Amino acid sequence: MYEEILDQMQELLKDEIKNLGGDLDKVEQVVMKMMMSFGKGLLQRLLDSGPNGYKGSSMPCECDGSKKFVQHRPKDIHSLFGWITIKRAYYHCPDCGQSLVPYDLVSGLGSEQISPGLARACCMLAVDDSFELASRKIEGLIGQKVSDNTIERVVQQVGSIVLQQQDQQLEDFLSSREFPESEVVPQRLYVAADGTTVHETDSWHECKIGTIYFEDERKRRKSCYVGRFDNSKVFGWHLWLSACRCGLRQADEIVFLGDGAGWIRTEHRRHFGRATFIIDWFHASEHFWDCGKMLFGEGTKATEKWVSEHLDLLWDGWMKKLLDDLKEQRKKYRGSKREAMDTLIRYISSNEEQMRYDVFRAKGYDIGSGAVEGACKHVVGKRLKQSGMVWSRAGSSATLALRITWLNNKWEQLWKNKPLAA
Ligand SMILES: [Zn+2]
Repeated sequence: MYEEILDQMQELLKDEIKNLGGDLDKVEQVVMKMMMSFGKGLLQRLLDSGPNGYKGSSMPCECDGSKKFVQHRPKDIHSLFGWITIKRAYYHCPDCGQSLVPYDLVSGLGSEQISPGLARACCMLAVDDSFELASRKIEGLIGQKVSDNTIERVVQQVGSIVLQQQDQQLEDFLSSREFPESEVVPQRLYVAADGTTVHETDSWHECKIGTIYFEDERKRRKSCYVGRFDNSKVFGWHLWLSACRCGLRQADEIVFLGDGAGWIRTEHRRHFGRATFIIDWFHASEHFWDCGKMLFGEGTKATEKWVSEHLDLLWDGWMKKLLDDLKEQRKKYRGSKREAMDTLIRYISSNEEQMRYDVFRAKGYDIGSGAVEGACKHVVGKRLKQSGMVWSRAGSSATLALRITWLNNKWEQLWKNKPLAA
């Protein structure tokens, strides 16, 4: 059977292929075009031959009356293979006026004219690329023209479902107090929190990012991200919930990483009290750079030398020497330079316990230079902060939620639940 079909296809392409002079790229394109055309025909036939939601001449209605079958109503759908028409059974209740198209619910079709397969492909591209680029890529890959506006709407629809699910899970926990099941039991679990701003139509808004990571038994780092535009309290709960799934309550040791910002301290106290709090190295060193630039100018050798000398002391745990040294230097300066020194001195003094990098390193802790800096750039920046990007609140939240679903390897799970039809 298979061989016979291939024989016939080969016969169909015989003349066209002869003229291509062995150009494999062109041969592939011809075959691809043919497969797409057959795919479209086959899909259309399969759909024409199905009941498409027909469940007899009537079905019970919630109003205790019954919904009557009216007719099969056609809907044009853009699929992976092109436009097709689906004739879905349409029911209507004369008593309460409700109507129902059962096929749309079970098939995963939403209100858009896009099939789940094509929607999923577009979303997969749009978690990394702008909607415009995703539109160009889907056309380049499978020859389907899907406008950037359509992709944006689909991403918003699916991403908002992700956010709703997260909110629901939090609500479920808060009402039942049943802890989410842990998917892994790491020996040492890291939880890092940070914030970054995203340009939205009215102004810049802070997006909070959490990274939960650990080493698996083969010493490979596993990361799970949490990203929300919520206030810190709601974000804290989501971070905690995700950390629970990564073994927060089972792990032998917890390390919490973040800068000394007030909201980060509060969420640490609220949810991660037993964790060792470390001011991540990335943020700590940024404070030294800020001060150095103020003293010696941006990009100068003097700044670099001053920063690296002081960071060396910090790295090796010479806290007293570092503070004495800074306090001595401060006397030389006035105005904004002295202010910069005061800020740095205050920062170190109030975070001394969380900046004992010599102690943390001796214990083998990751002090979070890469993970914390990387999360904001990799998770948020790369997609939401490309030049010229301005977002609506719904757009930024949904796109971020979808991107994180992809990065966290929860993609298949999401699409199994038919998010277009939700
Ligand atoms: Zn009814």
